[in-house]
Amino acid sequence: MEIFDTAELWNRDRIEQTQLLRLKTTLGWARNCSFYRKRLDAVGISPDTLLHLDDIRHIPFTTKDDLRAQYPTNLLCVPQSEIVRMHCSSGTTGTPVAVCHTQNDINAWADLMARCMHMAGVRREDVFQNMSGYGLFTGGLGIHFGAERLGCMTIPAGAGNSRRQIKLIKDFRTTVLHILPSYALILGEHIREAGENPRDLPLRIALVGAEPYSAEFRARIEELFAMKVYNSYGLSEMNGPGVAFECLEQNGLHIWEDAYLAEIIDLDTGTPLPDGEVGELVMTTLCRRGMPILRYRTRDLTRFIKGMCPCGRVHRRIDRILGRSDDMFVIKGVNVYPLQIEQAIMTFQEVGQNYLILLENDGITDVLRVKVEIRDEFFVEDMRALQNLQKVIAQRLHDEILLTPRIELVENNSLPRTEGKAARVLDMRNKK
Ligand code: ADP
Ligand code: ZN
Repeated sequence: MEIFDTAELWNRDRIEQTQLLRLKTTLGWARNCSFYRKRLDAVGISPDTLLHLDDIRHIPFTTKDDLRAQYPTNLLCVPQSEIVRMHCSSGTTGTPVAVCHTQNDINAWADLMARCMHMAGVRREDVFQNMSGYGLFTGGLGIHFGAERLGCMTIPAGAGNSRRQIKLIKDFRTTVLHILPSYALILGEHIREAGENPRDLPLRIALVGAEPYSAEFRARIEELFAMKVYNSYGLSEMNGPGVAFECLEQNGLHIWEDAYLAEIIDLDTGTPLPDGEVGELVMTTLCRRGMPILRYRTRDLTRFIKGMCPCGRVHRRIDRILGRSDDMFVIKGVNVYPLQIEQAIMTFQEVGQNYLILLENDGITDVLRVKVEIRDEFFVEDMRALQNLQKVIAQRLHDEILLTPRIELVENNSLPRTEGKAARVLDMRNKK
């Protein structure tokens, strides 16, 4: 195993000793804002009384609403003159949350991000094209600084504008991309429309994250471009990208435990779950001075993967994110995640790149409708073949979610698409 940082080689003891020390330091920093000082005093926790890592369970959770209520700068734990940058969440689910960083925070973040990229096989000789929106969104500057730290020639291409993206890839012989999963397939399509084969481009690796996608979706991107795709997870509250990343094994994402303390809890009771069980990821910063966050409820659902990773890194792995707890919808009493639907439909080779889940009510009962794009070469087939396909897709989904949806096959590229995070579910049940 080639490493970027010696912390990648730490064993469990070393990781936990460091976590305890850093957690105590973080509690000391957090007391510099009245929000955390009051909370910690209320439960009698201070750097001196916290003796074991498990004692963290006595600290109350921090929620997104807490962060919104402290907007814009009430959670600063250093004088504002120490802050060099602020970022916001992309606001996918409401009012944004602002996070402020000192110069050391920014440096530590760039180190973590460079460590992630290096783990996925990116090297200084690579040409890296960042297709993330720049600005407040952390996927821009966050990854940018990591790539520069690693020493890559870094192209801040920004989001969208496929024609320019393709030109940059060709002109500068880009080898590594950072791209949203939904946009990767759109970009591939544009390249094909221009009469070229995406597999002929010099691309070899893509860092893909910011929204949930299934293993089947990943396989499609890899196949389309003949490149390896590594899952990248992060959230603005925990800096942004660089929190957890896949290694060459592509089997779960290592969380950097020297920088974050991760827990997975039962959604309803808040108690920690054993490895392997799906719950909500809760995270604490261990290295952030400007604005520490304690026990943040990410609302992201995943599980710890049991056992050691063959790559040799001891930092724990989480499974790909199943979705946000608020993405889950309930239909006819069944809890469903968009990813379950994606997983099932993407196994059909006839299925194109995009799909849309519609929740409706026909006056009597709730109806789950799934619009599925079909590849051009299959759309010309006879009616009977298409009806049959409709039936088998519905059956496959029934096996997965125990409900029979109405499947509607639509032409390729006919569903709305965004260059930002994809909207997969449209709930129209109370809008009539
Ligand atoms: P917003 O919550 O407004 O989208 P962010 O830009 O901070 O704000 O996005 C972070 C969120 O994006 C995460 O909490 C998670 O829900 C989602 N996300 C990020 N990376 C991944 C990934 N690799 N897989 C699934 N979801 C992801
Ligand atoms: Zn590994």
